[in-house]
Amino acid sequence: MSEPFTLQHPEHRALNLLTTPVWIVASRGNELIFANDAAERLSATSDVHAMRHGSHSAHAEEQLAAYLPALRAREPIIEIWTLQLNGEAVPLSCQLSLLKQDSNNEQILVEGILSSLPSVAVAEKYDLTEDSLYGQLFHSNGAPMLLIDPMAEGRIVDANQAACRFYGHTREGFCRKHTWEINALGRQVLPIMSEVAKLAGGHRPLNFVHRLADGSLRDVQTYACPLKIEGRRLMLCVVHDVTEQKRLKNELEYAASRDPLSGLWNRRHFLKSLEKARQQRRRKDENYSLLMLDVDHFKNINDQFGHEKGDETLVLLAKTLANRVRDTDSVCRWGGEEFTIFLPQTDIGNAAHLAECLRISVSGIQISELPRITVSIGVAQHQADETTESLIRRADAALYQAKAAGRNTVVVG
Ligand code: GH3
Ligand code: MG
Ligand code: MG
Repeated sequence: MSEPFTLQHPEHRALNLLTTPVWIVASRGNELIFANDAAERLSATSDVHAMRHGSHSAHAEEQLAAYLPALRAREPIIEIWTLQLNGEAVPLSCQLSLLKQDSNNEQILVEGILSSLPSVAVAEKYDLTEDSLYGQLFHSNGAPMLLIDPMAEGRIVDANQAACRFYGHTREGFCRKHTWEINALGRQVLPIMSEVAKLAGGHRPLNFVHRLADGSLRDVQTYACPLKIEGRRLMLCVVHDVTEQKRLKNELEYAASRDPLSGLWNRRHFLKSLEKARQQRRRKDENYSLLMLDVDHFKNINDQFGHEKGDETLVLLAKTLANRVRDTDSVCRWGGEEFTIFLPQTDIGNAAHLAECLRISVSGIQISELPRITVSIGVAQHQADETTESLIRRADAALYQAKAAGRNTVVVG
C-alpha cells in the first residue's frame, strides 16, 4: 500500500491549515500532485480532468498548460470546477496561479473561492445614453451585451438590443434581473463574478449555460471587463452563443471515442482510461482489472447467415455486456468480434466472478434464426508498476488459453 495521498508531499502539508480548498496540479499532464484537507473533504477524486470538465465547469482554455504564459506574467486566471458532493455536482469558482517558476517543474496552484458577494441594494439607473460614443458602441453592436453591477449581486443595469433579441426580454424587463437569474449556475456564479470584476484588464472568455425568456438553455461564451460609468465600477459582458459549436464539438468527441457499430468505447478511448487508471494507482492504491472477450467461432455466423446477421449479433452482444456491468466499468469494442472491459476498483476475484456471469449471460442471448453464441474470456488484474501493454498482453494470453481449453471458458491470467 502506498501512503495516503495527502501525506506524500510533506512540503505542502502547511496548506492543510487553510479552510479553503487548494489543489496543486502538474502544468503538463494535469496530474494532481496535492489536495489539502479542505479539498479532500469537498471532493475525494484526484481526476483533474473530471473536475475541469464537469457539468458546471467553465474555463477559458481546454488545456491548463495553455495558461502558462499568462500565469508566468502573473495574470490571474479564474475557472469554475465541478465537484461531486454527496452524489451531487456542485460548482466551485477557483483562482489559478503558478507555484514554481522552475521551468522544468511548473505547478499550478488552484484555490477555491468560497466567499460570496456582499448584498448591496442599488436601484440607481446608469444606462449608457444612446447618443454618447460608448452608448452607440453598446446599443448598435450586433453582439449581445449586458452592463452589470457586480456590487449589487450582478444586477443587470442595461442590455443592448442584440441581447434583448437573443434572450427574449424587453430592455425594461432585463433591468429588473440579475446575472444569476439568467445563468444556469444560479447564485453560485456570484463568487466568480466578484473575482472577474476585480481584474483591471478583464478576463478570458468563460463558458456558461444561460437561460432565455422562453426557458430554453443556450451555451454561451462570455467576455467580461470592468467599466467605470458615472464613478461606479460596472462590468461589460459580451455574450457569444456557442450552442452549435458545442454540439459539433460533442459530436466530434463522441465519434472520436466510440465504435460506430455498437456505440461502445473504441480502443483509443479505452487505452486512455487504462493509462489514467495506471497513473492514478501511483497515488491511490486501488486495484483494477481487465477482461478480454472473443466470440467463439464467429466466422461461422458470417459464413452461414451473412455479414448483416453477424453485425446484428455483435450489437446485441455489446448491449448485453454494457447492461451487465457497473456504471463505472467501461466496455470497449477492441476490434472485430473482440471486446475488452475495464473494471476500476476490482480485484482479480471479483473480476473472475463478473467474467463468469458475463459468459453465462452471453450464452443466453437469443437471436431469431441464429444458433446460440458463446464467448471465451481472459482476466487479468493490474500488478503494481506494470505497464498497460503488459496488462493487456496478460489478459490476451489468458484469453488464448481459454480458447485452447475448448472455448466458452473463463481463464484467469
Ligand atoms: P475463435 O475466435 O473461436 O477462434 O473463432 P472465430 O471464427 O471467432 O475467429 P476468427 O478470428 O478466425 O474470426 C473472427 C471473425 O469475425 C472474422 C470476421 O469475419 C468476423 N468479424 C470481424 N469483425 C466483424 C464485423 O464487424 N462484423 C461481422 N459481421 N463480422 C466480423
Ligand atoms: Mg477474434
Ligand atoms: Mg472469435
